[in-house]
Amino acid sequence: MKVIVIPTLLFGFGQIVNGADLYSGGYPSSVVSSLKYVISGAPNSTYSTMMKTGANSWNGVSSKVYVSNNNTGAKMSVICNTTSYNTDGVVGRMYPYYYDTFGNAKYDSTYVNIWDVTDVYGYELVMEEEFGDNNYFHQSTYAHEVGHALSLNHPASGSAIMRQGWDGVQYTVPQTLDKTNLKTKWGY
Ligand SMILES: [Zn+2]
Repeated sequence: MKVIVIPTLLFGFGQIVNGADLYSGGYPSSVVSSLKYVISGAPNSTYSTMMKTGANSWNGVSSKVYVSNNNTGAKMSVICNTTSYNTDGVVGRMYPYYYDTFGNAKYDSTYVNIWDVTDVYGYELVMEEEFGDNNYFHQSTYAHEVGHALSLNHPASGSAIMRQGWDGVQYTVPQTLDKTNLKTKWGY
């Protein structure tokens, strides 16, 4: 899958974004019911396990949502970035794309379109500085970013892994508010 990096500070840790808990855009529901992802960039199995555990933590919440690691037919890339440091303290980002009529991937900067693919990044060098070697915080970051790929925005209040910064990263798995929002978006 082609990876395109477009600089943006939206929806990273450290910024305050208020508003609805959900994006209007997202994958088609037919994709979310069996969303396959590839893992890339993980320096060792500890990282890849952590990334998969974070992504898979959204399973079992809604009967309409299931994510799995499967290179065949994958529409999400979960990427461990171990080289980029200068990202303004942002530990993770999610970039959604749709294909235009020419087949070119277009970045959906407003999160309102129907997505074909997403790229989910964890910035390990920033995480190391922010969180140290606590794997649970790293796992939380990947879970949070995959939550964005599932059309979850940052809740303005409440306990949720989708809260920004330390408010969210203290949770290893989706909380009640996260689960409610996921079911509101995709169904029970
Ligand atoms: Zn976020």
